[in-house]
Amino acid sequence: MKLNSIALILGGVICALGGSAASGQNTSLPPGHAASHGIIHDAGMIRVLILDGQSGGAYHNWRLTTPVLKKELEETGLFSVTVVTAPSSDQDFSGFEPNLDHYQAIVMNYDAPDWPADLRARFEKYVSNGGGLIIVHAANNAFPNWPAYNEMIGIGGWRNRTQDAGPYWHVKDGKLVSDPSPGPAGQHGARLPFQVKTQQPEHPIMKGLPPVWMHYPDELYGMLRGPGKNMTVLATAYSDPKNKGTGYDEPMLMVLHYGKGRVFHTVMGHDASALSCVGFMTTFQRGTEWAATGRVTQKIPATFPTAKTVSYRVDIQELDPDLLKGASDPVRLEAEPAAASKAGVPQH
Ligand code: ZN
Repeated sequence: MKLNSIALILGGVICALGGSAASGQNTSLPPGHAASHGIIHDAGMIRVLILDGQSGGAYHNWRLTTPVLKKELEETGLFSVTVVTAPSSDQDFSGFEPNLDHYQAIVMNYDAPDWPADLRARFEKYVSNGGGLIIVHAANNAFPNWPAYNEMIGIGGWRNRTQDAGPYWHVKDGKLVSDPSPGPAGQHGARLPFQVKTQQPEHPIMKGLPPVWMHYPDELYGMLRGPGKNMTVLATAYSDPKNKGTGYDEPMLMVLHYGKGRVFHTVMGHDASALSCVGFMTTFQRGTEWAATGRVTQKIPATFPTAKTVSYRVDIQELDPDLLKGASDPVRLEAEPAAASKAGVPQH
């Protein structure tokens, strides 16, 4: 029996060990991925750039989560992934000139307050000309004062966003509604498991997923605000007041259009432990393919979580050395304030 193809069901938790076989992917070389003389060529693969280099605090450890995101994309066999690390916003950007147009999609694992104007303009041109964009978790905290970026992400939080950023958005009775009430943007409770509910079952990213699935413990973002233009909410989660929540079905997965560009936005994925959820992984892999190409060819893995059972990858969690020390207990890791306005150093 091969270890990497075993899915253990332990106490209501599907615990998938190992690599691509566990997620239902073909382990042989993908089409267009020909090996010769020991060199693997990536002709025909989807070229993806993961951008990192800054976060709002040490709690978003991009040095650790970027390799996780890279691994998750690469093991589909569909993507050729390049990581580009940007200077932090107080550093010199004069030598930072990534060739954005080389890539079919950019994954933002990046949260900076601002960028130089010429870099902003290049990024806007890339997306409006048809480049794909994937926003992961706190990348929706970035750039509060850059209108085009906020249009691309639809909604964002923290970094002193207020009603000037746009209304709050949530889903009520299957319809996306906005709320212009004044106030801060961004909040979440303790990291607990929560159900993700599909709102658009026919969208290529969602097609074949269960209507409801249990996400591994993560921050359930609520009270995000923004222009919400050209935005379709694919999935929501109920933000339970019992866990400092808003009482609303909050957007978890979204797609947007900016010019000719497609944007996939997942608010999930605080750390390696949340990223190890097979539900996160599957939607991230499918969302990236959709943003890059407009279609989704991937199968849903057999280990996908069910409505009451989380499913996560131990080998992904093990990429965070702290989790190996037992610091992954989601309840003990609580410590975030309920609202963005609360004093202290909030984690996002
Ligand atoms: Zn976070």
